[in-house]
Amino acid sequence: RGALYLVPTPIGNLEDMTFRAVRILQEADMILAEDTRQTLKLLTHFEIDTPLTSYHEHTHSDKQEQLFASLEAGEVMAMVSDAGMPLINDPGHPLVKRCLEVGVPVIALPGANAALTALIASGMDQERFTYYGFFPRQTKMRQEILEQVGMREETAIFYESPYRIKDLLKATIQVLGANRSVVLARELTKRFEEYMRGSAEDLLLAVAEQGIKGECVVLIAGGGLEASSQLAADLSYKEHVEQLMQ
Ligand code: SAM
Repeated sequence: RGALYLVPTPIGNLEDMTFRAVRILQEADMILAEDTRQTLKLLTHFEIDTPLTSYHEHTHSDKQEQLFASLEAGEVMAMVSDAGMPLINDPGHPLVKRCLEVGVPVIALPGANAALTALIASGMDQERFTYYGFFPRQTKMRQEILEQVGMREETAIFYESPYRIKDLLKATIQVLGANRSVVLARELTKRFEEYMRGSAEDLLLAVAEQGIKGECVVLIAGGGLEASSQLAADLSYKEHVEQLMQ
């Protein structure tokens, strides 16, 4: 019986690759990659020449079966995504489940992850947090998720494209109030890494003025929906929010 290794890769800075990750990728019979072109760059950098094949949610079921049969037959496979932890908003869950069902060992290596990296430097409550993955695109779902954030005490962590950060901040102001603490963590581990900390209003104004580029993690402080709905009922506050929305 083989084994499936889940191998994190850097989220920007190649020095964040671990020694163990390099060794496992070297020793595996096959590397399963979300995007083989992306992974090939990493493998070239670390002089790893293990055979590489693609694995993602659209991988044809015949190929999935073939890969699974090889695992059962004794091959050792290492799964990577384009960046960070495989399975964390990246492919891999169905294969992990299949392996566990039939007793193929699944071994996860620790390593780079954008959400946790942002959380520990954010200054927000890191004891309790909820990771939501990508912020939903539909207005109704956004509203629902933000209401949940407001009702819970935990820090909320979202992934979001820089093109939609402004909309996320606007939605946050509408549902949770302009004073809600937010942290934008962008380009983590890269040359232009930056943490922007402040109220949702401060950050909206800053983003509207300077723009925002690069990959982003957004953290929103939990708690206090009641306080923000009281605020929302206040007429002058309502006008203020309407101005911000323009
Ligand atoms: N598997 C990855 C992980 O463990 O963090 C996440 C993959 S998800 C498809 C990609 C999203 O993660 C980006 O859109 C961004 O929100 C976040 N992300 C990835 N790298 C980042 C970085 N260097 N700085 C900030 N956010 C990052």
